[in-house]
Amino acid sequence: MLAKTQHYLKQANLIAGEWVVADSGDVLTVTNPATGLEIGKVPSAGKSETRRAIDAAAEAFETFSQTTANERAKILRNMHDAMLDNQDALAELLTMEQGKPLAEAKGEIAIGAAYLLWFAEEGRRVYGDLVPSPWADRRIMVRKEPVGVVAAITPWNFPSSMLARKIGPAIATGCTSVIKPASQTPYSGLAWGVLAEEAGLPAGVMNIVTGRASEIGGELTRNPKVKKLTFTGSTEVGKTLLKQAAGTVKKVSMELGGNAPFIIFNSADIDRAVEGAIAAKFRNSGQTCVCTNRFYVQSKVYNKFVDRLGEAAEALKVGPGLDAGTQQGPLIDEAAVEKVEELIGDAEKKGGRIVAGGKRHELGKTFYQPTVIADAKSRMRFAREEIFGPVAPVFKFTKEEDAVRLANDTEFGLACYFYTQDLGQAYRVMEGLKYGLVGINEGVITTPEAPFGGMKESGLGTEGGRHGVDEYLETKYICVGGLGL
Ligand code: NAP
Repeated sequence: MLAKTQHYLKQANLIAGEWVVADSGDVLTVTNPATGLEIGKVPSAGKSETRRAIDAAAEAFETFSQTTANERAKILRNMHDAMLDNQDALAELLTMEQGKPLAEAKGEIAIGAAYLLWFAEEGRRVYGDLVPSPWADRRIMVRKEPVGVVAAITPWNFPSSMLARKIGPAIATGCTSVIKPASQTPYSGLAWGVLAEEAGLPAGVMNIVTGRASEIGGELTRNPKVKKLTFTGSTEVGKTLLKQAAGTVKKVSMELGGNAPFIIFNSADIDRAVEGAIAAKFRNSGQTCVCTNRFYVQSKVYNKFVDRLGEAAEALKVGPGLDAGTQQGPLIDEAAVEKVEELIGDAEKKGGRIVAGGKRHELGKTFYQPTVIADAKSRMRFAREEIFGPVAPVFKFTKEEDAVRLANDTEFGLACYFYTQDLGQAYRVMEGLKYGLVGINEGVITTPEAPFGGMKESGLGTEGGRHGVDEYLETKYICVGGLGL
């Protein structure tokens, strides 16, 4: 382990500027998914610690909300620089707890830093309005104000960058926060506390608690001092949190599950489509919310695409994320491998044809072979369920309208992709797809400059882009009357 990695590996929670253990002294053990070996232990906190963290954030809000956008931008820029200066250490920590290849972990740190820089700049452009008044003696102003204490709950698949999208706009707008990282990957979340302290963020502005999810989540969603909830995770947990947050009518942003379709039309550049397909399917071993869940390929290019995708999947180098050259790491735990096995078993029973992979990898335990299944059918479970693993089901279609209908036939609406060289088709299909993110001839499209968010049951609100700041602001209308004009 790099010496600097040890520096960022915190085994305590950050509340009101102090690194503390759980009141009970209980801990959670964190293991490396590639080896099953223990990395360390973090506090198993609950309601009382969360309440203190909320109190600290509410108190800090009184002063932090009065700082200037420039002061806050400077802190964000410091954090950005520290992330890039320590990219190797932060990436090592991320790979140790999450499993993804080191190159992907470095990419995650870099994009997290890029989000901070983006929000540092956007925070300085939080404009209000002067609205033309219908009255001669009154003036109308609109002002944007920080929403207040923000609760942020994040998943294990992007334990660093999912927080960057929340911490960035919170700090930029003058909000304070209480963060709960996922229990399987708490270290990348706790490292944000070190980055924040060293960048000059005042005590109490950012608080981090790890531990018992439903207790922490219960307090974060019911405590009236929390004014906004931002959640990234499964649709199921998102719905629970939405219900709980309704009691105090909190502002909410929800980044939830997906079931991304990837359509290849007859006119597509197949080389480009295979390259995009590998990135959109096998990145992070298929464990991203924007990972392709279903490939739909038009009949004339179906066999060619299936063969090429199978060859490319078999060529992926599987191994521990810290080993040089690894392109596909382990799954997060054995339960994830079992789910993949179930989905493949279901498909095989219903006529699915394994073209590549289809078995546990010889490395054992959490490693699974990158898999391609041809002759996929709508009755197979993965047509509806989020796979979250390295399995690429390939369906065949004939007509353009069928592809759009099948792609939309899901309660999810996060990311989708399609490949065509026909301009008219590109517009027709783009307009027909009910998804928040559309990649046309591109398989990886996330960037801080663009809004990221789902339609339907994939979520509410967006992160990133100029829109990502609005989610942290309240709008205040002021009417100034009696001007005697
Ligand atoms: P998850 O089970 O929903 O967990 C996400 C977070 O919620 C974790 O911190 C978890 O804590 C916490 N949590 C669980 N139950 C809770 C409760 N009752 N109250 C409060 N918090 C609770 O999701 P996951 O398995 O970690 O992540 C995978 C899911 O996230 C997938 O569905 C994926 O599509 C989605 N995702 C969406 C996006 C997006 O931007 N749309 C991005 C990434 C991932 P513990 O870890 O302690 O259980």
